[in-house]
Amino acid sequence: MREVNLYNTLSKKIEPFHPNEEGKVKMYTCGPTVYHYAHIGNLRSYIMEDILEKYLRYAGYNVKRVMNITDVGHLTSDADSGEDKMLKGAKREHKTVMEIAEFYKKAFFSDCDKLNIKTPDVVEPATNCISEFIHMIEVLIEKGYAYIAGGNVYFDTSKLKEYYVLSNQNEEELQVGVREDVQEDVNKKNKTDFVLWFTKSKFDSQELKWESPWGVGYPGWHIECSCISIKHLGEKLDIHCGGVDNIFPHHTNEIAQSESYLGHKWCNYWFHVQHLNDKSGKMSKSKGEFLTVSLLEEKGYNPLVYRMFCLQSHYRKPLLFSYEVMDNVKIAYDKLKKRISSLGKDGEMEEEKIAEYQDKFAEAMGNDLNTSQALTVLYDVLKADMNDASKRFLVADFDKVLSLGLLDEESSEENEIDAELKDMIESKIAERKAAKKEKDFAKADAIRQELLDKGIEIKDTREGTVWNLIK
Ligand code: AMP
Ligand code: ZN
Repeated sequence: MREVNLYNTLSKKIEPFHPNEEGKVKMYTCGPTVYHYAHIGNLRSYIMEDILEKYLRYAGYNVKRVMNITDVGHLTSDADSGEDKMLKGAKREHKTVMEIAEFYKKAFFSDCDKLNIKTPDVVEPATNCISEFIHMIEVLIEKGYAYIAGGNVYFDTSKLKEYYVLSNQNEEELQVGVREDVQEDVNKKNKTDFVLWFTKSKFDSQELKWESPWGVGYPGWHIECSCISIKHLGEKLDIHCGGVDNIFPHHTNEIAQSESYLGHKWCNYWFHVQHLNDKSGKMSKSKGEFLTVSLLEEKGYNPLVYRMFCLQSHYRKPLLFSYEVMDNVKIAYDKLKKRISSLGKDGEMEEEKIAEYQDKFAEAMGNDLNTSQALTVLYDVLKADMNDASKRFLVADFDKVLSLGLLDEESSEENEIDAELKDMIESKIAERKAAKKEKDFAKADAIRQELLDKGIEIKDTREGTVWNLIK
């Protein structure tokens, strides 16, 4: 097992990563709210979480990763107010909430595929687990951590010894966290209390509702992650991930619920990815250009260029999106792939040198996932005094984590062009053969010259005419 050091939001320092069970990692990721396409900011978080999972595997761990799909309960303000995001999406498109959920779930995984993001081992939509949420809420009420007020069930944060375990929140910051909350919920005993189950909310049009001991209603957003994680990963979680906006209130509330329910510490490591910003600030689905993977494709970028864009900077630093930088990364990516495709395949493995570069790669990645340093190690491999076969082996090895498609064949579009080119050359060769047969050597020479002008050289051999592209 290789050493992995990670920044832990809980301890606020870089720490050696040690899972509860030797060699096994239980990892949970907050999944998307499927009311719209993911923007490339959301996908920055999923790319970096994918890198984390793949690096843990590379380092020798057996990882089980679980992700929820939020298809109910997430309101426009994370602090339980505003409109239900799913309902908002359904109204926008004149569809049902479940139709919206299905459509955008597929769109999310299709974007992930294009970005080489692996699907977690378990993906569970919140609407699959209503009975489990109800059970957890019942236990929280029984243990005195939750109360019913105005028809809703709330978590009572005053019952905790410490609530702000993840963040150094103070009243002022808390105001920022709930700034979209124009109407304070009068049912709450404490400002930080949050909803576990809604039966009365300000929108009667809520489409998805379920029977519960507290009346027909629907779950709050936070309960789903506590419940889905414990359902699939048990009482002790090793690492939990999300974007930095999830630290408060979402992850803070997850800890409050899970630990009150379980009666012991729940998760040891918290991994948070900083935001991708655009010129106007934090990326959003409602203002400015709605930056999606499809939009990048329409503009001519391979989605993997965006993955490389993300890997060039550290996940804990805010990242500013710009097309100028994307253009530079595109050039770098194309050059890198070209360089790799020119590597030969023959040669003995140079074991010692391979191990040396693997160590360098692991040193970079094991140092709080320093992906830009890991890319430098990749470039060093290409420049190194080592045979091509060994270089190729290392590229494939690093790409298990980087997932930049470094050894993939050219895109099918390029293959199509290749096929067209081959057809053209073959027909010209046939035409030339016919001209020679007719003793029309002037025509045969003209065809040879025409191909040469296009960068194609032909040679007559005993086996027939062969051709190659002049570099
Ligand atoms: P959502 O679909 O809104 O629940 O968000 C999905 C994931 O994207 C969460 O982990 C968020 O923390 C993360 N996220 C939201 N905005 C950004 C951003 N601008 N940059 C990076 N991650 C983000
Ligand atoms: Zn979550």
